[in-house]
Amino acid sequence: MRWLMRKCVICGRYTLSRDKCPVCGGEVRVPHPPRFSPEDKYLKYRYLMKKLAGLLPVGEENEKEEKEKKRMVATTGQT
Ligand SMILES: [Zn+2]
Repeated sequence: MRWLMRKCVICGRYTLSRDKCPVCGGEVRVPHPPRFSPEDKYLKYRYLMKKLAGLLPVGEENEKEEKEKKRMVATTGQT
């Protein structure tokens, strides 16, 4: 179970509605940044370090990380 509350970006009200604000119909967002697992966090740093070092490979590793990112987005989108 994740954070249930959403906050309207227009009127700033908190709501349990997931898609839109019941008051003004505005877009709702989770009022705090999503939590990442340590695994994903290190993955991000590894990726960043490689990128900074100019060693970003075009191969299996990169492809795996791309899939990982997509999985993260899909997971976030469901909640
Ligand atoms: Zn609103």
